[in-house]
Amino acid sequence: MGIPVGAHGRLGLKSFSQTSAWLPQVDQPLCTDCCAKVQKEVEAALRETEREIEAYQAALRRLSAEEQTALPDEEFRRQMAAVEEEEDRERC
Ligand SMILES: [Zn+2]
Repeated sequence: MGIPVGAHGRLGLKSFSQTSAWLPQVDQPLCTDCCAKVQKEVEAALRETEREIEAYQAALRRLSAEEQTALPDEEFRRQMAAVEEEEDRERC
């Protein structure tokens, strides 16, 4: 592409590769068009990562919600066992 290569594309790519480990290392400087294309790919990758994080956090919330309902149930069973023990004792 006829556009002369400037520091802009290089700088943009450098800052991207510093924060994005998944980006392939690009040594050649890019023209504005290529830089914009890379930027779009980075943004798509970021959105994908955000979705994965959201799914992970939703799974964590589900897990902790299950724990919160499991604990009282466990406590309930313990109390029932204690009551049954007492009833057994009263019968004797
Ligand atoms: Zn180009």
